[in-house]
Amino acid sequence: MPEQEIKGSTRLCGLIGDPVRHTFSPQIHNTLADLTGQDLVYTAFPVENPEGLDAAVRGAFELGILGMNVTVPYKQDVMKSLVGIDPAAERIGAVNTLVRTDNGYKGYNTDYVGLRRALEDKGISLKGKNVVLVGAGGAARSAAILCAEEGAACLAILNRTVEKAQSLCDAVAAHYDKIKLLSFDLQKAGSLPLDSYIVIQCTNVGLYPKVQETPVSDPAFIRKAEAVYDLIYTPEETRFMKLCKEHGIPAWNGMDMLLWQGVSSFELWTGAQVTAAQAEIVKKKLRKVLKERQ
Ligand code: NAP
Repeated sequence: MPEQEIKGSTRLCGLIGDPVRHTFSPQIHNTLADLTGQDLVYTAFPVENPEGLDAAVRGAFELGILGMNVTVPYKQDVMKSLVGIDPAAERIGAVNTLVRTDNGYKGYNTDYVGLRRALEDKGISLKGKNVVLVGAGGAARSAAILCAEEGAACLAILNRTVEKAQSLCDAVAAHYDKIKLLSFDLQKAGSLPLDSYIVIQCTNVGLYPKVQETPVSDPAFIRKAEAVYDLIYTPEETRFMKLCKEHGIPAWNGMDMLLWQGVSSFELWTGAQVTAAQAEIVKKKLRKVLKERQ
């Protein structure tokens, strides 16, 4: 529970999606509200009927809700109910944050910002690099646009369904002409024609409870990695991360991305600047609740 008293003036923020019970966002935002002294509480709203999404967004606006996060399966569909979309979110084709304006909500993609800040924190620069995305789903879309924005030289997208990897390459090519793009069959990862690369793991393979699974295990692929960022944060160390570390390759989980996407949404809603010390407190809390869940 938030430590602050809930009053008539308290603003509400929340998450819409289905399911939402498993979310860690209330812990992030209610802790941030306590730390920054914002008169705000955050909770989750399951929207079980997809046909009710537009009504949910309009109703939230009429009720004065300050801001919303959006999760699966609505990150694309919600765009129809907004009065504006941030250019980066437009290129990604998905929003996860709604920010209140005078006449409706504007959409942003803070997954993209969260991944950028997480990579910066680890000292990983994508500029001029070869980057391999493992996966071509929703999270990979944010990662692919980030690679192009940050000036990666080459982006290889490896996916079980190669057509989806190709369609993500096409989506990137529609906005960026300098980056070299390649779609590739995940099952043949070991024969990827690149000498070295940064890997961003964007599938849900290895996610708790199926912790023994890994999207790739071929040493021919793994040993060419310079650094690995796995978007999964439960478990703390995925099997893929473990295999990479066994080859001496630094590998991190997606907790910092989760943290920074939350911080970024909170800053957009409130105008507050979250300090590094406050973010560190939220990270400790997240680590604790993640451990309790496993
Ligand atoms: P998604 O849209 O459903 O995409 C799933 C991806 O995983 C697709 O590329 C899919 O390949 C692949 N995949 C699924 N099962 C597979 C299997 N058995 N073998 C090989 N590939 C398989 O999911 P998403 O929203 O992108 O999320 C992906 C992961 O990122 C999740 O674990 C999520 O928790 C994590 N995530 C983390 C953060 C963070 O803040 N750290 C933010 C967003 C997402 P096909 O196309 O072939 O089906």
